[in-house]
Amino acid sequence: MNIIDVEVWPLHLPMAPHTPVTVGGETSAAHTLVRVMTDSGIHGCGEVFRLAPAGACALIEHELKPMLLGQDPRQIELLWDRMYRQSFRYGRAGIVLHAISGIEVALWDILGKASGLPVYQLLGGASRVRMPVYASMHKYAEPAHAAAVAVRCVELGYRAIKLHQRDVPSVAAVRAAIGPDIALMLDASGAWSPRVALRMAHELSPFNLEWLEEPLAAMDDYDGLRWLRDRSPVPIAAGENEYTSAGFRELISRRAVDVVQPDVIKAGGLSVCRKVAALAESFDLDFSPHCFYYGPGIAATLHLCLATPRARYIEINPLDLEHEFMLPGMRPVDGYLAAPDAPGLGIDFDLPVLREHRRSFTC
Ligand SMILES: [Mg+2]
Repeated sequence: MNIIDVEVWPLHLPMAPHTPVTVGGETSAAHTLVRVMTDSGIHGCGEVFRLAPAGACALIEHELKPMLLGQDPRQIELLWDRMYRQSFRYGRAGIVLHAISGIEVALWDILGKASGLPVYQLLGGASRVRMPVYASMHKYAEPAHAAAVAVRCVELGYRAIKLHQRDVPSVAAVRAAIGPDIALMLDASGAWSPRVALRMAHELSPFNLEWLEEPLAAMDDYDGLRWLRDRSPVPIAAGENEYTSAGFRELISRRAVDVVQPDVIKAGGLSVCRKVAALAESFDLDFSPHCFYYGPGIAATLHLCLATPRARYIEINPLDLEHEFMLPGMRPVDGYLAAPDAPGLGIDFDLPVLREHRRSFTC
């Protein structure tokens, strides 16, 4: 079996207009999809992190695709190594790893389809039949608005909620509105100095948070994060902006976090995230991948988590799309995503939707 083409599909799709948890002003979103085509008739579906889509498209078309044409797509580690080594002078992180990740996920989809097995079987087998999820809420201007959306998420079946608020009154309002039995996390998305983050952690402590995510503005300040983790009454989480097992080696071996959060379509793909899960296991840390996707990104995250016993949650964007572009769409039911049983990732693209919403870039 050989690769005969690598297609990139940059999309811009509307969100559902009346979704009950819509945040003001957000009416559409970008998605970048990949199809790896083979001469056997099997194709693989992948997804690239959504930011900087024109750059990712050009990189795949002009740099990565020529490395892959004519190669056996089932040699995933070998092809990953080739893409990484031939791009390291300008890569090793960021957009280059986003593009490699999107292709790598498609290669696993091909391997699963060619083997007749779901990807989680290839990763070691399912450790459960469904994965718990949490609603990753957007950021709201008023505590009352955040509390109302959190209540709506609970009504929709979510049993865990993550906030992107940066103020104590919002967390207090949400906790009062949802009660003590719903798990609650807070994501600062890189906001504070270590000392301010420690003060916030103490002020947030009464609200029983599962974790405080990316508290520090300086993303590479592992020493600062370790300083904070040693003192914080709230567990510290990070990892969605780390790349490759080498990046996670720093985060984990310096004992800078309690919860490790790789992103499958940023960090390097399923192979990298499996290695990161092994690192997390060796340091007895929690594992809860970042995921804010509707396409193969969420499918790959589900397969990874099913095969990783210490995986805690899958992150879900609670806003609905107007049209799903992946079949079947992966939306949670009663706070869980069920294990698919079809070969590969168990999904395919809805090509008429892709064609209708395709963006074009000049490379
Ligand atoms: Mg985050």
